[in-house]
Amino acid sequence: TSFAHFGFDEQLMHIIRKSEYTQPTPIQCQGVPIALSGRDMIGIAKTGSGKTAAFIWPMLVHIMDQKELETGEGPIAVIVCPTRELCQQVRQPGRDGSMRSVSVLGKGQRLLCGRLIDHVKKKATSLQRVTYLVFDEADRMFDMGFEYQVRSIASHVRPDRQTLLFSATFRKKIERLARDILVDPIRVVQ
Ligand code: AMP
Repeated sequence: TSFAHFGFDEQLMHIIRKSEYTQPTPIQCQGVPIALSGRDMIGIAKTGSGKTAAFIWPMLVHIMDQKELETGEGPIAVIVCPTRELCQQVRQPGRDGSMRSVSVLGKGQRLLCGRLIDHVKKKATSLQRVTYLVFDEADRMFDMGFEYQVRSIASHVRPDRQTLLFSATFRKKIERLARDILVDPIRVVQ
């Protein structure tokens, strides 16, 4: 697979050309078409596999497809990751400005995590129009004690969303989470 096979538009191809990547990584070859198709996905992949771009590029396509982007309120895509550093990395591929309409939520501190839940409860952050939801490094979030928060965020997002779950390992707990928050997912192993 080459980048041309993904069918990305010129704007996104320009971002990719600037990154100087020569070809998609295995997780990108498998994951990008699934993410673009709208199906739920479980990606078993470690850091270094190129997994971030595998969910960020389809996310950009998803966002650009939303016609009421300018008029509505609140994010359309939400990416939940375990640390602030990871959030910053996740932001990188979207530097062209298309990330403005995206909430990248840092789960590095319980405070931030708690604050998101509070925001949702107080309706300060409306997750009402979120249709693209990513949980990155789910096993790490579980290890940090964020299972409740992960499930709570999922429960606040409309059920007709697309959900992508990334984890380095696929333990029983992650399997259970996948069963609970994904619909008929396709599993991709790096
Ligand atoms: P990740 O697994 O998402 O943490 O990505 C690890 C590193 O791989 C990052 O520094 C990316 O910039 C880089 N990367 C992502 N996709 C590609 C690609 N197709 N070719 C070369 N490097 C890539």
